[in-house]
Amino acid sequence: MQDILAGLNEQQREAVTHKDGPLMIVAGAGSGKTKVLTTRIAYLMGHHGVDAFNILALTFTNKAAAEMKERIQKILGNGEARNLYIGTFHSVFARILRGEAQHLGYPSNFTIYDTDDSRGVIKTVVQELNLDDKTYKPNVVGNRISAAKNALITPEEYLSDSHIQAEDARQNRPAIGRIYDAYCKRCFKNGAMDFDDLLLKMYELLRDFPPVLHKYQHKFKYVMVDEYQDTNTTQYQITKLLAAAHENLCVVGDDAQSIYSFRGATIENILQFQKDYEDVKVVKLERNYRSTGTILNIANEVIKNNKNQLPKELWTEAEAGDKVKIVRVISDNDEGRYVADAIQENKLRNHFNNGDFAILYRTNAQSRAYEECLRRSNIPYRIYGGISFYQRKEIRDFIAYLRVIVNTRDEEALKRIINYPARGIGKTSIEKLVIVANEKNMQMWQVLEQAQNVGIRGGSLESMQAFVQMIKYFQSMLKTSNAYEVAFQVGKHTGLVKELFNDKSAEGLARYENIQELLNSIKEWVDDAENRSMIDEDGTLIEDSITQPTAGYVAPETAPIPERDPTAATNSGGTLFDMASTPDSNSPAKDAAATASLGTYLQQITLLTDADKNDDENADVVKLMTIHASKGLEFPCVFVGGMEETLFPSGMSINTREELEEERRLFYVAVTRAKKNCGSRMRKAATNLGRWWPMSRAAFWKKYPANMPIVLWPVVACAIRAAWALVVPVPLNDCMVAAVAEATVPLLQNADTVRLRASKPPAQSQATLALHSRPKWWSIHHPPTL
Ligand code: ATP
Ligand code: MG
Repeated sequence: MQDILAGLNEQQREAVTHKDGPLMIVAGAGSGKTKVLTTRIAYLMGHHGVDAFNILALTFTNKAAAEMKERIQKILGNGEARNLYIGTFHSVFARILRGEAQHLGYPSNFTIYDTDDSRGVIKTVVQELNLDDKTYKPNVVGNRISAAKNALITPEEYLSDSHIQAEDARQNRPAIGRIYDAYCKRCFKNGAMDFDDLLLKMYELLRDFPPVLHKYQHKFKYVMVDEYQDTNTTQYQITKLLAAAHENLCVVGDDAQSIYSFRGATIENILQFQKDYEDVKVVKLERNYRSTGTILNIANEVIKNNKNQLPKELWTEAEAGDKVKIVRVISDNDEGRYVADAIQENKLRNHFNNGDFAILYRTNAQSRAYEECLRRSNIPYRIYGGISFYQRKEIRDFIAYLRVIVNTRDEEALKRIINYPARGIGKTSIEKLVIVANEKNMQMWQVLEQAQNVGIRGGSLESMQAFVQMIKYFQSMLKTSNAYEVAFQVGKHTGLVKELFNDKSAEGLARYENIQELLNSIKEWVDDAENRSMIDEDGTLIEDSITQPTAGYVAPETAPIPERDPTAATNSGGTLFDMASTPDSNSPAKDAAATASLGTYLQQITLLTDADKNDDENADVVKLMTIHASKGLEFPCVFVGGMEETLFPSGMSINTREELEEERRLFYVAVTRAKKNCGSRMRKAATNLGRWWPMSRAAFWKKYPANMPIVLWPVVACAIRAAWALVVPVPLNDCMVAAVAEATVPLLQNADTVRLRASKPPAQSQATLALHSRPKWWSIHHPPTL
């Protein structure tokens, strides 16, 4: 075991060694908050002998959670860290709810609806209530429902609250309450929880079932929350309940990084903490270890304009570093080109890798221009968030099959696949199923199983029966097969893969490859899950008390699967799914099925956060993501793109002081992701080359091989520059990399209005802030105050 406290500064030590009682760490970006949290867990385990099973840590992304586990593992040097409960609020609560769902009337294999699913249900409900779908757009209604859930307002309260009703009426949407009510009922009927439900239901569970609350209070003797500034009311209440018995609650946050108020997060939670716990110990960390002095200055300069904040200092011992660049470009494509060129140059001159660069922007839609330019310059990149792999149609179709297999109550998924690929089940027949299900208050699946009794005849009936039989066949595999084995059979037997294979268009091919990719990823996940074996290093089986069900719980894998008569299968024409070919259900249940079950897999992919998606730590790629997704991360070089009035700061978000202050905090988050530039090998000989550069840098590098001796570079470049200048005089302002520091300075300093004025052409101007230590020779005009 390493010396756990080695290298920590005094304040960090103070926080790490604080054992019992409430602890709050409020500190600026990059001051080691997450590091302290991790080290504190290791210290509790390694020094005080606290059992890993008794520690709960809630983080912002699964990636952060995995990193923390890994670091703790390294510090302690044993396998204990794997027993910790570390994860995002959603993933930890989903895990707990699986074991306790029956208290709330949900099946333990409940489906988790992502945003698209829940918008789909809202659409259905709006139709069923005969409301105008233009007035009640799924997104608008969904946001309203989400806000209500996050504020712990039930549909009944919503409908009876005169203020809320008046507000909805004022916005000409008086029926939102009714939709909310019907939506909740529909989700419940479907055995599904949306993202907000994972928090809300967890809260209800702890509030309404004292034995359950007691069990988890007893289990989690130490509770820790990272990024506490972004918790909403429900999360706040849950952590308060969980920690009520021991009061060993440690929260870590930075009010200046609170950027989720639109999701109900409230800075008040930090302020409230000191009021809730009288004997709270407050630790402030003021030394920043991440960024250079210059970067930190900018962050401090911007955030100090916010009125609503806790006073704190942030300083660094790191060198001032190179100046930050503010670059004016005339369009988004120019901006993309500039960034691609800058990356190319920095790689060559300063020996950066692709993985050292991050491009951050306000909205996902901004990624397009960067993508195009990076692709053209052959720079590998990866986008985090946006339309993710899992949102693609073919992937959603495939996953809908898996969801129905795990939970037949999942009506959204069932409707998606019942006639896809086309199997002759007509629209009217499907509508009939839905109508009967609603009338008789049954599951759509139950009606489907008895389709012959509801007047469905002929080809439709036969297809429905074959479909039911097929799904049951897959279900029969759940007991003994892992997620990949089931998914493989789904691919093989549903006709989905075949359909895509037969589509020889370019899109068809891409879709086919995506399915292959999905299967590969499931295989990898299964292998991983099996490797993370249940066997401890000393050979004992790890028993996680929390996965021990409370009374009445039936784990999904052990739930009885309807026995089917093999002869019946063949008699009803189900030759393909003849039970003779199902896996031998008498064979001993494989561990694989338990550790890598389809249910667990589905939960894991639904709960991926933006920062987790497509994550391959070792890939040397430029990272593109929204600022929101970059929270808690750090990169050597950062570009903040599209800094333009109405884009960032967003036009929709600067109507009030609160909104403007949130935009500033967002900018603060972006700036503080940047680290210092280690090992800059700046070439002073090339002073001012950038200002007159007559051709795109990408074009230059194409023309002149990258392996040209670096010493020749300035000579060749100056010669070209001089020649070019003779032919075409390039005014400074038109130069692609001309800085407009004076235009953007207001953004960094002003109090209220943020206006970015560019002399020309005003309509399209965008500024990019390149937060990396750009070699000085490339600077043209440093803003006087930065
Ligand atoms: P954010 O506000 O962005 O979440 P944070 O406060 O959580 O940041 P960390 O991510 O924990 O900060 O730490 C920032 C960087 O500083 C990390 O690279 C971390 O390893 C480093 N660091 C923190 N404390 C120390 C220390 N005492 N000595 C050396 N490096 C440190
Ligand atoms: Mg952090």
